[in-house]
Amino acid sequence: MARLALGPANRRPAVRTAAGLPVLVVGDPIEWTAVVGIPLAASPGEAEVQVGTAGEAHRIAYAIAPKRYAEQRLTVAPKTVDLSAADQARYERERDHQAGVMATFSDPVPAELAMAVPVPGRRSSSFGLRRVFNGQARNPHSGMDIAAATGTPVRAPVPGTVIDTGDYFFNGGTVWLDHGGGLLSMYCHLSRIDAKVGDRLATGDAFCAVGATGRVTGPHLHWGVMLNRTMVDPALFIEA
Ligand SMILES: [Zn+2]
Repeated sequence: MARLALGPANRRPAVRTAAGLPVLVVGDPIEWTAVVGIPLAASPGEAEVQVGTAGEAHRIAYAIAPKRYAEQRLTVAPKTVDLSAADQARYERERDHQAGVMATFSDPVPAELAMAVPVPGRRSSSFGLRRVFNGQARNPHSGMDIAAATGTPVRAPVPGTVIDTGDYFFNGGTVWLDHGGGLLSMYCHLSRIDAKVGDRLATGDAFCAVGATGRVTGPHLHWGVMLNRTMVDPALFIEA
């Protein structure tokens, strides 16, 4: 994640990634700041955002530093690594559906970025780990795992609106929240979902419960945070 100073302006500047995705801009007319999610797969080197609309846009460059994440080897049910044709088709449907959820970009933008931890517990593995399931390399870990017993209530870390609920092949029972400005959060492997699409949550509202559904080795909450359709490290948002 990068925070880019945009300077003063009467109105909130429109900022897009090089790929054209809208970027969260926080602040006030004295000083605006773009908060950009950087994909784990991004190449180190120079990157940029576009500020303003076509014709009068200018670029702000920033540097992506290399970062090497640790490797994590896990043993899970074989059918969750070598998918059957039916499971592969199910996964692809769910991936396409959730791509639509991830494109959510709503007003207003969040009043603040500091978040509370959604469940108390040990953070059992961290963002960015390169994961090897049953000896096969898979996507890196794109969220924070918090160990907690099945049934532990999960609480909204900031105000948000429920934009998706489902039972997905890898993620199990899942809820997505929209916090505005492309800042989304997801909660996975749930045993219970107590909210429905459209529900508005205040900070601290319980809306689902920890479980062990989907591809897991035991009960925990997988918590993901997304900016400009890019999963970023939830630890960056946790209140000091
Ligand atoms: Zn996880």
